[in-house]
Amino acid sequence: MTMRQAIAEALAGLTIGSVLYDEPMSHHASLRLGGPADALVAADDEAQLAAVVRRLTQKGIAFLPVGNLTNILVRDGGYRGALLWMRGWDQTAVSPGPDGTYFLDAQAGAALGRVVALAAAEALAGVEFCTGIPGSVGGAVRMNAGAYGKEIKDVVSRVTVMNKEGRVHQLRREEIAFAYRRSGLPADTIICGARFVLTRGDAGRIRARMSEIREWRQEKHPLQYPSAGSVFKNPPGEPAGRLIEELGLKGRRLGDVQISKKHANFMVNKGQGTAADMLELIRLVQETARRERGVALEPEIVIIGEER
Ligand SMILES: Cc1cc2nc3c(=O)[nH]c(=O)nc-3n(C[C@H](O)[C@H](O)[C@H](O)COP(=O)(O)OP(=O)(O)OC[C@H]3O[C@@H](n4cnc5c(N)ncnc54)[C@H](O)[C@@H]3O)c2cc1C
Repeated sequence: MTMRQAIAEALAGLTIGSVLYDEPMSHHASLRLGGPADALVAADDEAQLAAVVRRLTQKGIAFLPVGNLTNILVRDGGYRGALLWMRGWDQTAVSPGPDGTYFLDAQAGAALGRVVALAAAEALAGVEFCTGIPGSVGGAVRMNAGAYGKEIKDVVSRVTVMNKEGRVHQLRREEIAFAYRRSGLPADTIICGARFVLTRGDAGRIRARMSEIREWRQEKHPLQYPSAGSVFKNPPGEPAGRLIEELGLKGRRLGDVQISKKHANFMVNKGQGTAADMLELIRLVQETARRERGVALEPEIVIIGEER
């Protein structure tokens, strides 16, 4: 039995929003490359998701939650198992919190852009740094996404998660081992939603800061090409982009994947790029950094799936 058949059998009889089999990740990932997932499952709500997760766990089938796929590289052979897609989980709400704060609750599939826009509309300060990060709330919490000296952990107070038995519970920020671009949550823990704690601010100032960040990103990042953002975490003391540039690798191209000429910590897909090309470039950068500088560069992007 193939994995696809095993998943179909495991999910038989369940009501599920949508299940796409052998779905090419190049159609969904911001990199526009990557092999097929055996199944891309989008549950409509918590009850559906819990039923799916329980069945997959019972059958020993691997699964991984995904959001907007803006930080994932799927190898060309594809992902063996089910990707649980939080598409459509995009409800957001604002309510008063203690001591003049405000809660912004968002479901995991909500785009960070939606959270940022809602905060601006309500004149709430705290998430301006998320402007222009193309991920979802779930992906941002998982990755402890950050920019301009701030990270998700600075503004999140609690996270709603589902475990692999389909049970939902809440974690306080203190219970999550947030660190630089990581949350320490197990890969099969599904983030269902998060609560941001914001403060009342000046609407004009908030919008001005967001515009400034948008302009800065336009100027610095190669946004005209598909990418997954920064490929490597910054090593201590030096931005990875500057190190890669100093190593003379800026602009290096393999097939249709190129180390961006605009920002050396981005790799861009110039058309028909493959995961194999990108992985080869990643290895080249790592080996060169180790040899020339004794620096171990660690990927920031999440790499999953099998080689072809
Ligand atoms: C142009 C560009 C600019 C970027 N700029 C930044 C930046 O400034 N700062 C920054 O930190 N990142 C940046 N990124 C990377 C990326 O947008 C963030 O890491 C984002 O938070 C990932 O969210 P996602 O929904 O796309 O996650 P995905 O790529 O779908 O997944 C990333 C990881 O999160 C996990 N995950 C996703 N959803 C869930 C969930 N609901 N529950 C549990 N785990 C989940 C996945 O399993 C995977 O391990 C950029 C990317 C691009 C393309």
